[in-house]
Amino acid sequence: MKLETLCLHAGTSPDPTTKSRAMPIHRTTAYVFDSTEHAANLFGLRELGNIYSRIMNPTQDALEQRVAALEGGAAGLAHSSGTAAIFNAINNICRAGDEIVSAGNLYGGTFTMFNDIFPQFGLKVHFVDANDPDAFAAAINDNTRALFCETLSNPACDVTDIEAVAAVAHGHGLPLIVDATFTTPVLQRSIDFGADIVVNSLTKWMGGHGTGIGGMVVDAGRFDWRGDKFPLMNEPDSSYHGLRWAHDLPEELAPIAYLLRMRTVPLRNLGACISPDNAWIFAQGLETLPLRMERHCTNAHQVARYLQEHEQVDWVRYPGLPGDPAFDKNDKYLNGMGGPMVVFEIQGGQAAGQAFIEGLELFSHLANVGDAKSLAIHPATTTHSQLNPEQQAGAGITPGLVRLAVGIEHIDDIVADIDRALAAANS
Ligand SMILES: *Cc1c(COP(=O)(O)O)cnc(C)c1O
Repeated sequence: MKLETLCLHAGTSPDPTTKSRAMPIHRTTAYVFDSTEHAANLFGLRELGNIYSRIMNPTQDALEQRVAALEGGAAGLAHSSGTAAIFNAINNICRAGDEIVSAGNLYGGTFTMFNDIFPQFGLKVHFVDANDPDAFAAAINDNTRALFCETLSNPACDVTDIEAVAAVAHGHGLPLIVDATFTTPVLQRSIDFGADIVVNSLTKWMGGHGTGIGGMVVDAGRFDWRGDKFPLMNEPDSSYHGLRWAHDLPEELAPIAYLLRMRTVPLRNLGACISPDNAWIFAQGLETLPLRMERHCTNAHQVARYLQEHEQVDWVRYPGLPGDPAFDKNDKYLNGMGGPMVVFEIQGGQAAGQAFIEGLELFSHLANVGDAKSLAIHPATTTHSQLNPEQQAGAGITPGLVRLAVGIEHIDDIVADIDRALAAANS
């Protein structure tokens, strides 16, 4: 079925017990075993089923099936946040001494995790230019365990050539892990371009209404984890009665060895599980994802065109604008839709940027993206204020840069608000 249909139907069917058409929320901690044999089989992974809601929950399961279907993957695993999903995606295959090669233009929280937290565990991350697939290749060594990048970066608005980076990864026997939060499957199904593991912050456009925090890891189900590079997948797992994940699973589960390990080792024992209520919120939000993304993108496109013509604006970054550095990737990697974010440089530097934000009435000034409502922020004085001027320049943060996460309100009201704020910044 097509994406629009999967958004509404994948993972759910009318509840067999109550006939409820909408998906129930299963607020339960644990599940009754049929027999001692049933219990033993569940714990031994000889049979899959519910044990305890830190590991799985039926509402979470429906959400996981829905997102996996949307991404075209074999299975999904929900987490308490996008951040936790990224941590476990790497933690599942890396131990002290291992290395990752990552794009440098990451979401701030991910950059801090990679740059400041991972070294505490003996993991080293090499940061490279996301626009240069050869740079990924050059940074790979014997200790590299994965490549990592975002599909559409923020606030730089770079679009990564996923197919080229995946080719580099696979040429070295490595998986490509992508953060696809800014594209969602409506703009890009990263697995079609070679991604092996796709991570999403459900918090943003997938949930779509700014009402909860959650994350998802989807396993394409086709990476071969056998071999020396991945001892956690190949050596007997002392935390799971000696199971070798890449070798000992029954045939039907073997393709999702990575995801099964993630559920039964890091999720089970580190505890970053999603709540059933949030799983429900995200499954509901996904029902309208294609409609919302279409509106987010057409509104963003019009905002970008308006700003491009405005005399107070130095430059606009929007991948859907002809002439934009990412425009040549718009058709292939953004489904020709341009994306939901617009960034621009207002004349007058930091003071003008702040005055613009103060002048907005419809846009909310906050640190989030992917809400149905329009959002704005001035990165130099907020999200990136802890960086020194050189680091800010390296991350593409200029003093007058404004980031707009364009919502699904009527375009006339959005443009009127921007117009008002630009006038306020000019006075
Ligand atoms: C927000 C975000 C994250 C982190 O997700 P949370 O759900 O807030 O933990 C990761 N990557 C990107 C690209 C994001 O926008």
